[in-house]
Amino acid sequence: MDTAPSRRTDTDSQRKTPQMCQHQPPCPTAESADREAAHLVAHFPEQGWSLLCNGVLLFEDTGELLPDGKVIAPHRPIDSERIITAA
Ligand SMILES: [Zn+2]
Repeated sequence: MDTAPSRRTDTDSQRKTPQMCQHQPPCPTAESADREAAHLVAHFPEQGWSLLCNGVLLFEDTGELLPDGKVIAPHRPIDSERIITAA
């Protein structure tokens, strides 16, 4: 009984960084801390989310969904937070 799925080299290339970003210099990767600095490639305000060119889904409430399925909790920019950062 041979139930081996027909694996191809495509599977390996998908594990690497998605080749969505064509920018120079390249945008931060989804694993990067400044992933939100990547370019917007799609924006759906009526649905409340945007897609960055590094594959990150950025939600209206500042939550994020990474290409590997990891969820980043919302981190709204609050005025008091800015004061702390500025100090
Ligand atoms: Zn890019």
